[in-house]
Amino acid sequence: MRGTPMPRYGIAIDSTKCVGCHSCRVACQNQNGLESNETFNWIKNKNRGQYPSFDKEFIPLQCNHCENAPCQRVCPTGATYTSPEGVVLVNPKTCVGCKYCMEACPYKMRIIDHQRGIVEKCRFCIELVREGGTPACVTTCPTQVRIFGDLDDPKSDISKFIAETGAQPLRPDLGTIPKIFYKRS
Ligand code: SF4
Ligand code: SF4
Repeated sequence: MRGTPMPRYGIAIDSTKCVGCHSCRVACQNQNGLESNETFNWIKNKNRGQYPSFDKEFIPLQCNHCENAPCQRVCPTGATYTSPEGVVLVNPKTCVGCKYCMEACPYKMRIIDHQRGIVEKCRFCIELVREGGTPACVTTCPTQVRIFGDLDDPKSDISKFIAETGAQPLRPDLGTIPKIFYKRS
């Protein structure tokens, strides 16, 4: 008898709804016990137009959980690995803090955890997810910018959103096959 297929998790981001409040960053810091100067997600500000016809686009950024992850390929100890749910994780017991992964990540989405002497990054709040929850950045966002779910399930909200909006990953030309998809204005 075949078991239930594993999900392949991703996040769709509707950046047109982001108001740049940074609640996602703070929720992530709380969830992961990060200091105020450490973060696993960033909000990039992009100016559009010129005064007086001018506005800002806010683009939330975090690890893309690439299917073809350069950070994983260069890790000399195998500390960076992909979970059965398609989430790229770091094993703190085998990470030696060499920073090769930081160099290899074309999106620059990894940071040094100075307290533990390792490199870390967004983990899709995997412990919460395995208990049936959703990542803290998804839950906390006041404007519901992010949709988390199974990219392999055509009936999931994330798959429907990507199909309806044509949301695209960042820099698909790099061949990393990211699992974060963006709807941009
Ligand atoms: S919580 Fe939502 S609206 Fe606020 S910065 Fe993050 S993504 Fe944007
Ligand atoms: S975004 Fe960077 S850190 Fe995340 S999986 Fe891709 S290469 Fe690795």
